[in-house]
Amino acid sequence: MKALVKHAPGDGNVDILDVEEPTCGDKQVRVEVAFCGVCGTDIHILHDTFRNYPPVILGHEFAGTVVELGKSVTGISLGEKVAGLGATAVTCGRCEYCLSGHFIFCSDRRGMGHGVNGGFARYVVMRPDQLFPVPEAVSLQEASLSEPFAAAIQAVAEMTQVRIGDIVLVSGPGPIGLLCLKLLVAEGLTTIVAGAPGDSVRLEAAQRFGAAMGVNVGERSLLDAVHEVTDGRGVDVAFECAGHESSVRGCLDALRPMGRYTQVGICGREIRFPIDQIFYKQLKLSGSICYTAGTWGRMMKIYAQGRVRINDIVSSKLPISEWRTAFDLCMGKQGLKVLMYPE
Ligand SMILES: [Zn+2]
Ligand SMILES: [Zn+2]
Repeated sequence: MKALVKHAPGDGNVDILDVEEPTCGDKQVRVEVAFCGVCGTDIHILHDTFRNYPPVILGHEFAGTVVELGKSVTGISLGEKVAGLGATAVTCGRCEYCLSGHFIFCSDRRGMGHGVNGGFARYVVMRPDQLFPVPEAVSLQEASLSEPFAAAIQAVAEMTQVRIGDIVLVSGPGPIGLLCLKLLVAEGLTTIVAGAPGDSVRLEAAQRFGAAMGVNVGERSLLDAVHEVTDGRGVDVAFECAGHESSVRGCLDALRPMGRYTQVGICGREIRFPIDQIFYKQLKLSGSICYTAGTWGRMMKIYAQGRVRINDIVSSKLPISEWRTAFDLCMGKQGLKVLMYPE
């Protein structure tokens, strides 16, 4: 089968290669991939700025159909539509983090798409506990957004206290920021979305998805906009989803005293920010990285209830042979989410 492979360490060394189809062990399930999303992490693996273990097939945001069951697998059926939780591919299962469900911090962890083979290929094999059957109403395209959606769900619904009546700022209108927005809008919260001058397409999407205001910080002061919406009080909650110094500062400035701040974006380098704001405004700061399996369980309930639909986050779909175009679209920030499909 054709697959997008990081075949050697270092910058670059990513190509479409012909690889063996994976065989399905007794305790495994073979899934035919329908779609796999391109993520910033894939770009980092291309440039070797995220740890990776070549040769390895890239791709960790996928959904597909169950096409083969190992002999001892029960509880899952052929033909079932599933979203794949690739991040738990390898964990120790014994450390305090594994035992408490926070596998993401296990020092032995290797996820699909960087540590073991991922979803930019026709087939993947996985353990049944990594597969989450999605409701009939959710298409495979929508289900392939599950991995970033789970990250947004943890940030909004599990790591941050948001209450009815709050006014919220989402800074950074990339796919994760827009998914956070959709959840906040579904919870009935007034949400301001801030973006940089290159983000106009994404800010338009934010307005369509129910943002109370989209602010292009190249055109107007974020603080002025926040004061307009909050009658000068400042926002109750801020989600930093851009991973950029000016966005971090913008969030800290926008928060009211005793507000809550959650870091969802990755800056990837050291930044400067006024830490005294945390003291003077007595802010609560937290980070949110990925999700637990429990978050995925919550996501399936959200899908089943149908109040948050995320299909319209997808802006293009390309075959894996056009991976360079797909990666460029992702880096250029023009589209929303770019999906690839096997061929
Ligand atoms: Zn991702
Ligand atoms: Zn562990």
